[in-house]
Amino acid sequence: MNFTDEILHKEKRYALSIFSKHDNPEIIKHFGFQSSRDVNKYLNSPSEVEVIKGVPVVKGMLGYLILEKVNTIENDTHTVFIGKVIDGDILKDDEPMTYAYYQEHKDELMKDDVSNNTSYVCSVCGYIYQEDVIPDDYICPVCGASKDKFFKK
Ligand code: FE
Repeated sequence: MNFTDEILHKEKRYALSIFSKHDNPEIIKHFGFQSSRDVNKYLNSPSEVEVIKGVPVVKGMLGYLILEKVNTIENDTHTVFIGKVIDGDILKDDEPMTYAYYQEHKDELMKDDVSNNTSYVCSVCGYIYQEDVIPDDYICPVCGASKDKFFKK
């Protein structure tokens, strides 16, 4: 179980940020490619963070929703959290980045990370593993994909 999943099982209220196509990709790396088990992501965040209705909200993005959890549905690979929107705002005029858009553009969005030594990119989520050799039992820390889902950059 990843840390986000663990926290969402415990907490009643949570925020959801909506990324735009032109927001700083460092925000994706900062919040998506490291775990709060290891670092406090709200310190040294590349984007302003403000506590709204008791939960931290990443500003500097397209917008956000604040939700109260009303149901949790467990599946084999994922948990679906159903939330009732209690607050939210649109912070700028832009287009939202969908997951499909991210999948199509992740190479250019994440290009700074692959400029130096050898690295491997998770074909499922775009996570970059920056070592010369990837261990056989390696599991993507973001999406759980196995080594065979990684390709060399
Ligand atoms: Fe992954």
